[in-house]
Amino acid sequence: MHKGLRRTRVSQSPKLDVVVIGGGQSALTIAYFLKRTGLSYLLLDAEPAPGGAWRHGWDSLRLFSPSAWSSIAGWPMPVVAEGTPSRDDVIDYLTQYERRYDFPIKRATRVTHVELINGGLRLFSDDSSWDAKTVISATGSWSRPVIPAYPGQELFMGQQIHSAHYVGPTGFEGKTILVVGGGNSGAQIYAEVSKVSQAIWVTQEPPKFLPDEVDGRVLFERATARLKALQEGREPPLLEGGLGDIVMVPSVKEARERGVLHSVRPFAKFTQTGVVWPSGNETNVDIVIWCTGFSPALDHLTSLGIVGEDSRVAVIGNRSVDCPNLWLVGYGDWTGLASATLIGVTRSARDVVKQIQGYLSSTFFA
Ligand code: FAD
Repeated sequence: MHKGLRRTRVSQSPKLDVVVIGGGQSALTIAYFLKRTGLSYLLLDAEPAPGGAWRHGWDSLRLFSPSAWSSIAGWPMPVVAEGTPSRDDVIDYLTQYERRYDFPIKRATRVTHVELINGGLRLFSDDSSWDAKTVISATGSWSRPVIPAYPGQELFMGQQIHSAHYVGPTGFEGKTILVVGGGNSGAQIYAEVSKVSQAIWVTQEPPKFLPDEVDGRVLFERATARLKALQEGREPPLLEGGLGDIVMVPSVKEARERGVLHSVRPFAKFTQTGVVWPSGNETNVDIVIWCTGFSPALDHLTSLGIVGEDSRVAVIGNRSVDCPNLWLVGYGDWTGLASATLIGVTRSARDVVKQIQGYLSSTFFA
């Protein structure tokens, strides 16, 4: 028995048609389509307020694409006065979005585990439970930062933070900082901290910078063209640039103009005071900022025994292979092309709600 069970009030109410776990952009897009079906549904979100992962983004974080290309289903993000939307613009948008559609959301409620019951699934928080005929997991990945293992890491006495907890460069003035990671987080955080500190950017390979005119919108169009070609059995078009390559947002361009936008290959090991490079040279380091990505936040599904060693659930389309009452949305391309983006999640959400409608209407529930 799970350790949380003893204190839990077990649901006596009839099963809901759908419970969505999460309250970020993916869960809201799913809710938009659910609301139009007449099915009974509820969103359970661990955050105390709207915005999902965006509530934890760093202060200067801006989107890669203009508002029109950063919108979820139904109601587009209002146009921002200048450039691309900021973190706070996205939080405002998601806040207004859920208010506009008045979705049933229970907040500050973390689903701790899920169990199979007759004709559905039972979801548990610390003190309650809900029964559902179907469940959609849309818990993102921000709460599962990944830090790779390096020899001697346990010896290092300096500060280590993950980009998930980076707020801004205040307090880093004059320090020696390693920014580790060759994606967009690494590029943007390096660009920012290199203005106030001795920053070294560490990447596995030389980073791939996109041409200045390529933004998130172009990347999404290219990814869609590739998918369409594959679906139609055609050779996908040969276009440079993928969703993980570095978009030349203003802060990264500014670092290029300053002449600092270059990286070095990884160090060999940590010492108490810094790192040793493959050449044998040592550098004293005050702070390491890990911009090394995230893994899907699926702890709540481990009780079903369906989370693999790759931290994923086996799916066909978005539906779990081993637990057919469960769908997953928003974790990355394995749950739908570009489903971890505002513009991309609509396709997966619409599709999943349609599948669930079909399943519920063709299944007899006692
Ligand atoms: P989240 O936003 O993470 O929401 C999941 C919600 O589920 C959270 O509220 C969380 O608290 C809750 N939750 C988690 N576990 C549980 C549980 N057990 N029980 C209940 N609730 C739970 N995307 C774009 O479209 N455009 C961009 O320009 C862009 N830029 C980005 C820049 C950076 C640096 C990063 C890291 C990401 C960026 N993204 C961008 C991606 C985007 O931020 C995420 O992919 C997006 O937040 C995923 O949305 P989601 O709703 O699936 O997950």
